[in-house]
Amino acid sequence: MENQKNLFERSKQLVPGGVHSPVRSFKGLESTPRFMEKAEGAYIQDTEGKSYIDFCMSFGPLILGHKNSKVEKSLQQALKKGWSYGACEPYSLELAEYILSRIPFLDQIRFVNSGTEAVMTALRLARGKTGRDKLLKFNGCYHGHVDSMLIKAGSGLAGTSTASSKGIPKNVAEDTLILDLNDEKALQECFDVHGESIAGVIIEPLPANNGLLIQNPDFLKKINSLCKANGSLLIFDEVISGFRVNFSGMAHDLDITPDIVTYGKVIGGGLPVGAIAATKSVMETLAPVGDVYQAGTLSANPLAMVGGLSTLQQLDEATYKKVDDNALKIEELFNDWFKSYENGKFSHYKIIRYKSLFWFAPNNSNLKSIDDIPQNLTQEFLPLFETLLEKGIYLSPNAYEIGFVSLAHDSEVLKDLERRLYN
Ligand SMILES: *Cc1c(COP(=O)(O)O)cnc(C)c1O
Repeated sequence: MENQKNLFERSKQLVPGGVHSPVRSFKGLESTPRFMEKAEGAYIQDTEGKSYIDFCMSFGPLILGHKNSKVEKSLQQALKKGWSYGACEPYSLELAEYILSRIPFLDQIRFVNSGTEAVMTALRLARGKTGRDKLLKFNGCYHGHVDSMLIKAGSGLAGTSTASSKGIPKNVAEDTLILDLNDEKALQECFDVHGESIAGVIIEPLPANNGLLIQNPDFLKKINSLCKANGSLLIFDEVISGFRVNFSGMAHDLDITPDIVTYGKVIGGGLPVGAIAATKSVMETLAPVGDVYQAGTLSANPLAMVGGLSTLQQLDEATYKKVDDNALKIEELFNDWFKSYENGKFSHYKIIRYKSLFWFAPNNSNLKSIDDIPQNLTQEFLPLFETLLEKGIYLSPNAYEIGFVSLAHDSEVLKDLERRLYN
C-alpha cells in the first residue's frame, strides 16, 4: 500500500500536473489527488484502503453505480471472444437499434470514443450540411476540448469571442460567436446580424459543466425557432444529460427536437463511447455516403458497445424514478447538514438539483448564467471539499463541477452518508 502523496509525486514526474485530465487535479487544495484502485456500487476506494461514498461517479457515466453486476457479466462474456475487430460487428448494431428504437426523433447514429469527438463531428456536420462557417455557443457551456469550443466572450460587442486556451488560432476563434445564457435580447440581435452565416448553434440544454444553470425553457424554445427561421442547425450537446435525465434526455423534457444530438458519458456506461445522432438526411452527409469526413480506428469498440448496451437496457421508468428519489433524499440530507454543521460554517450552501444531477451552490440560487455565480466560489468550496473528503465523501475536486447520483446510492448508502456527515 503506497502512500497517496508518493504516488502523486511519482506521477508528477511523468505526467503534466500528475493527471491525465485537469479536472482530476486537486489544484488549489491542500490535499493531493486520491489514487483510486477499486469501486463498487456507490463506493470508491483509494490505494490506502480508505473508502468514500462517491458523488463524482467518473463524472457522470455510471448511472447504475460502479461495477454493476449485469454490465460486468456482459463485459466478461464479450471479452472472451476478443476486443477489437476493426470491421463491422453485431455489437454496435444492437446498441444502435436499441437507442434509435427508444428515441423517436432520431433515425441514425454514429459511435465515436468520447464526447469531445462527438461534438467535433457534430460541428463539422453542421458546417458541411449548411455550407456555412459560423458557430454559436454559450458562455458557461462546455463542449469538450475542441478548438472552436474553447472560446470565451471577447471584450467588444456581444457575440465577439477570443480563445480561452492558448494554442487556438485566431481565425478559429473568430468563427465562434458567443453569447450569455438566458439573454434572449442578445440572442435575437446576434441572429439579426449573423443569422445567414450561422451553421449551427450548440448548447447544453441543461448546462451542467459550470455549476448547474437550469435554463428557462422559453430561452431554448427561442433558440430553436431562430435556428429554424435562419436555416441554422440546432445541436443539443446531451453528453451529460442524455440517458441521464431520462432516456431521451433534455430534448424530451423541453419538448424540443434538435437537428443533431451529441452523446457521451452514460451512453458507454463507463467505457469510452460518444455518439452523434440525427435524422437520416443530416447523418447521411457523413462519409462514406456524404462528403463530411469522420472516422475512428477504435470507434464502436465491441467491449464499449456491450458496456453501453447493458447499461442502457437497465434504464426504464422505474430505474429513473429510483435514481431521482435517491437524489432527492441526498439533497435533503445535505441541505440539513449545511444548516447544522459547526454553527453554520457551510450554511450559505444549498443544493441545486435537476433529477440526479446536483450542485453545491451558493444559497441565493436563481442561477441562470455565469454572471449570476459569485466570484469567490472556489475559495468557498475548498474547505467544504476537504471536510467531506476527510469524512469519506468524494466529490469532483472543483467548485464548478456537479455531483452525480446513481441507482446504487440507495437507502443503505443514505444511512451511511448521514452517519459520515454527522460523525
Ligand atoms: C463531458 C462533456 C463533454 C466532453 O466529453 P469527453 O468524453 O470528456 O470528451 C462534452 N460536452 C458535455 C456537455 C460534457 O458534459
